[in-house]
Amino acid sequence: MAIKRLLIANRGEIALRIHRAAREMGIETVAVHSTADAEAMHVRLADHAVCIGPPAAKDSYLNVAAIIAAAEITHADAIHPGYGFLSENAQFAEIVEAHGLIWVGPKPEHIRTMGDKVQAKRTAGALGLPLVPGSDGAIEDFAVARDLAETIGYPVIIKAASGGGGRGMKVVNSAEELESQMGQARSEAKAAFGDATVYMEKYLGNPRHIEFQIFGDGKGEAVHLGERDCSLQRRHQKVLEEAPSPVITPEERDRMGGIVAKAMADMAYRGAGTIEFLWENGEFYFIEMNTRLQVEHPVTEAITGVDLVREQIRVAEGNPLSFRQEEIEFKGHAIECRINAEDPWNFTPSPGQVTAYHAAGGMNVRVDSGLYAGYRIPPYYDSMIGKLIVSGRTRKGAIMRLKRALDEMVIDGVKTSIPLHQALLDDPEFQSGDYTIKWLEEWLAKRAG
Ligand code: ADP
Repeated sequence: MAIKRLLIANRGEIALRIHRAAREMGIETVAVHSTADAEAMHVRLADHAVCIGPPAAKDSYLNVAAIIAAAEITHADAIHPGYGFLSENAQFAEIVEAHGLIWVGPKPEHIRTMGDKVQAKRTAGALGLPLVPGSDGAIEDFAVARDLAETIGYPVIIKAASGGGGRGMKVVNSAEELESQMGQARSEAKAAFGDATVYMEKYLGNPRHIEFQIFGDGKGEAVHLGERDCSLQRRHQKVLEEAPSPVITPEERDRMGGIVAKAMADMAYRGAGTIEFLWENGEFYFIEMNTRLQVEHPVTEAITGVDLVREQIRVAEGNPLSFRQEEIEFKGHAIECRINAEDPWNFTPSPGQVTAYHAAGGMNVRVDSGLYAGYRIPPYYDSMIGKLIVSGRTRKGAIMRLKRALDEMVIDGVKTSIPLHQALLDDPEFQSGDYTIKWLEEWLAKRAG
């Protein structure tokens, strides 16, 4: 069924991103916003806007009743959740569908299965994806945990089954630490996610984070759109992403991409998804699946030419995929910098009024951001205020272009992470592509002296 009016249950750059795709498809948009976001760009541009509550996300962007009511009063016929907030809430997806609205996302049962990381690992294993060695399911008993840690060898990592956003993980280096770390992991998981379930994995010494973008039609067809390398992380959170990965050969992309696409076809997955792996010594190890659009999706768009949000909407309407695997080509190299309103070196948030703003431009430069001069960045949400994405024919060309584009960006009035990205791009080790998930934190520690 064709969507005529799409409600965007999100804010910031991703709300704008979805609005743009919808407009280009001739679909009207409905923005929902908290009182703190009344002046936001996506609210200004949308065809309709509804205030759904006070600033705190739990009262607005997570307020299911208010969002459904907004859809009903504006006669929206579909809801796109973006990323974060309610995007991986299976119950929300079910409620949306129960109200006769189209859910622009995966089937609720897949969101539920993959949202529980223990179940996700089981499912991935059953579908033939390689796993990080670890517990087969949750671990409750300390004695069992101790025996398992002995078998797989220290260090191990204890992870929250309901974890996300890089939180709820504890690295354990020896048997002496295990009991206390397990206890802490449990109580932190309970506090943060309302679920104390934890599981254990081998802690890989120095892997890269490499993830595959996949797309399914929900009826048994699925394709992959190559990988993204998200190894540049701080506190398990991505800072800069690139596609393709500097270490993956075309043969390896085809092989692993084929495996993930087949797995998704077998489960009749619907819509966009990301299969995340750690990669060490030439081997892939599945860690989790995200059943939504990712922040870093534009690097894939840049090298494939596919509009992933448009495709999400088309699939939600019940259309077949608009491309076959053989039609997806990978051209050139793309890099994305996440621009945060924060001190670039100590990472303290820096909300406030943007006094001057100028976005970079030029060939193969994309800025996804809701910023404008005079905009007040509210202190209540994530500090990411935009993304700068560039592509070039080669990785080196992309780096040169990104440096040029970063120099052009003007965001006055608040501190941003732009100086961090500039310093990173000047680093010969980054330029060589030879970095792992630990590299950025070590680099930051060295700089801090
Ligand atoms: P989240 O859902 O919180 O993002 P993930 O399972 O995706 O959690 O892991 C986030 C990051 O944590 C990874 O990109 C990696 O840097 C690190 N990590 C997770 N599992 C392991 C592991 N077994 N060994 C080493 N690092 C890990």
